[in-house]
Amino acid sequence: MNKDKIKIINDTINYLKFRTDHNNYDIYKKEIRHSDMPVFFNDINTNDSIEPETDLKIGKEEGKLIRLNEEKMTEVVHEPDVSSITKIKSVQEKKKILTNENWMKSQTLDAFENEIKDCSKCTVLAAGRKQIVFGTGNPNADVVVVGEAPGADEDEQGKPFVGRAGKLLTEILKAINFSREDIFICNILKCRPPENRNPLPDEIENCEPYLFKQLEMIKPKLILAVGTFASQTLLRSKEPLGKLRGKFHTYNGIKMMVTYHPAALLRNPNWKKPTWEDVQLFRKEYDLLVKS
Ligand code: SF4
Repeated sequence: MNKDKIKIINDTINYLKFRTDHNNYDIYKKEIRHSDMPVFFNDINTNDSIEPETDLKIGKEEGKLIRLNEEKMTEVVHEPDVSSITKIKSVQEKKKILTNENWMKSQTLDAFENEIKDCSKCTVLAAGRKQIVFGTGNPNADVVVVGEAPGADEDEQGKPFVGRAGKLLTEILKAINFSREDIFICNILKCRPPENRNPLPDEIENCEPYLFKQLEMIKPKLILAVGTFASQTLLRSKEPLGKLRGKFHTYNGIKMMVTYHPAALLRNPNWKKPTWEDVQLFRKEYDLLVKS
C-alpha cells in the first residue's frame, strides 16, 4: 500500500475516532480496517467451517481459544494442556542417548527417508498411519518450516502441510518471497497421531532424532516453527505462543522463530497481524544472514 493511501486511511480512522469521542457515534472496530497485510490475509474466510479434527487443534493455539463475539469481542473458552512438555528430554540429553542405528549413516535425504519409511518405534502411530510424512522441499534449503505432526490429508498424500492450512502456508511464504520449492517443510512427528491428538512425550522422544538428522543434513540458516505445540516442544517451554513469538530463539544451534499455525488463522482473525509481523521479521533476518 502506498504512503498516500496509508495517510488517507489514518486520517479517516482519526476522524472517525474523533467523531466517536465527541458526538457519541458508535463506530464498530470491525468496520475499520487498516493494514499493510497482503490481500490474501484479509481474504481468509474465518467463518468457513473446517474439519472437526482441525477444530480440536485450534483449541490449543495461543494457549487458549478466543472466540470473537461481536458484542463483547473476546471470550476465553479453553486452556491448553502443556504438562507433557516438561517430560520431554532436552536436545542435548537426547543426543547423548541416541544409539547407533542404520538411518544415522544416511548420506542423502532420500536414503534417509527410505531407511525410516517402515519405522515402528511408536506402535500406535505406526499401526494407524497410511504412510510416514517425511517432509518435502529443497535438500539444501536455507529455511526449514517445522510443524507438529501430519493430519489426515498429509497422511493420505504423504506430504506435509496440504489441505486448506497448507495452501495458506504456501501463500504466506509467497508473500515473503519464498516458494515451497526453495525451502524444506516437515513436522516433529512423521506419523499422524490418531484423531489428531497431541503427540505424546514418548512419541516425540522417538521421532525428534529424525528431525535432528534432517537439520544436520540440510543445514538451514533459519527455522520457522508453526503452532503452539511445535513451538513449545522445540523450545521446551510452557509459555504461550503469544509470548514466544516476535523474537528469535535457538534450536539445535539454529536460529528459530515461532509463529501461529496457518490452521489457527483460518479460525481467528486476531492472529493474522502478529503472524504477518513475524514472517516479515523472519524474512529480514534471512536477508541479513544470506548477505553476511
Ligand atoms: S512417529 Fe516417528 S518414531 Fe514414531 S513410528 Fe512414526 S516415524 Fe517412527
